[in-house]
Amino acid sequence: MRGMVHPQRSGVKESGGLAQRRRGGGWEIMVSTRKDPAEAVAVDAGLKRGSTGGKSPLRRTLPATSAFAAALLGWHERAGRHDLPWQQHPTAYRVWVSEVMLQQTQVATVIPFYLRFMARFPHVRALADAPLDEVLHVWSGLGYYARARNLQRAAVRVRDEHQGEFPLRFEQIAALPGIGRSTAGAILALCRGERLPILDGNARRVLARYFGVAGARTEPAAGKRLWELAERCTPQQRVSEYTQAIMDLGATVCVRRRPLCTQCPLSAGCYAQRTGRQHELPAPHRARARRLRRAFMVVALADPQTVWLERRPESGVWGGLWCLPEFATATAATAFVRNSLQAAAPPQPLAALEHAFTHFDLTITPLLVQCARSAAVMEEGAGLWYNLREPARIGLPAPITALLARLATDTLFDVRTA
Ligand code: SF4
Repeated sequence: MRGMVHPQRSGVKESGGLAQRRRGGGWEIMVSTRKDPAEAVAVDAGLKRGSTGGKSPLRRTLPATSAFAAALLGWHERAGRHDLPWQQHPTAYRVWVSEVMLQQTQVATVIPFYLRFMARFPHVRALADAPLDEVLHVWSGLGYYARARNLQRAAVRVRDEHQGEFPLRFEQIAALPGIGRSTAGAILALCRGERLPILDGNARRVLARYFGVAGARTEPAAGKRLWELAERCTPQQRVSEYTQAIMDLGATVCVRRRPLCTQCPLSAGCYAQRTGRQHELPAPHRARARRLRRAFMVVALADPQTVWLERRPESGVWGGLWCLPEFATATAATAFVRNSLQAAAPPQPLAALEHAFTHFDLTITPLLVQCARSAAVMEEGAGLWYNLREPARIGLPAPITALLARLATDTLFDVRTA
């Protein structure tokens, strides 16, 4: 056929969207070693511009991005993760929940939460019909609670607008609360093998290093370039495996600090590895000085087993969770104890709690006080009396759960004070 490069004669062939060259008696997947790996692998293969009159379909179907995908797929077969809970029966709902949980959280941490969540909400209708408190309760300890609130909002939309069936069109998925382009792509790629690119943190790091894309995460030009590369690298076939592979490589090999380049299937063609710029790519976030915050929380006990909790506003730290009444100063906390709880004795400070958030560290000083159940603070709907021995199924921040557990095992009179 005119214009075609015959594999037997050229020593190069393309199969399943993957570039391969003749080696010994067989074929090997090609990995580019050119300076700009995004250039056509065909150049590495001796198919220089003009050598085939510029007409070869082979030149057009052998970009380095094919070699990139091929190397990843080969690695994933050998070393990737194949038995994660969300890889079993990967419906759109199951993949969606896993993708949201995995945002900013590692696989090992997510697994027990995922199993518990799926046992309680096995399908999208169960999640939509559940009270928000129940969803936050099952999510408690995983952090970034806006994710749980968005999951439930999206589930309600699926129930009400899609007859309870998780939509399978990209635009419909991307329109749901808390789902961006990458998550929508990952859902359809992982559960249906649809050829959609992803660009989560792991994929972004691998692509930025391999192709040498500089620029901070917030720079539109860098984002545009990375999305283009993500699109080009996604193979025509085996999309689900490829998507899992790039996420796995970023999570286990091409990690942020100390990437394991000697174990990486992409090392031969990786720009960052060749130039020693692994730690510059992608451009690190500008380090912000960690802030220290102090808070005073009133532990109001009506009896040794019952404590007063209030629901926090939806926006901000621990949004929508139940918590002890919080104050910025000891003076404000003491005024609350005196005026609202009408306690006779001043509050007693307990041992402080430390909790690290992404951008700041919080030191909480709990202030223990005994009050009557009928204290003026008990306005309709403002909070609830929480039984330490028979806890309600509500969402609690991890340090508050720990403090309440400690109170449950102590009595009002032997709890350790500061
Ligand atoms: S060679 Fe190193 S920097 Fe390059 S993709 Fe692999 S692990 Fe990342």
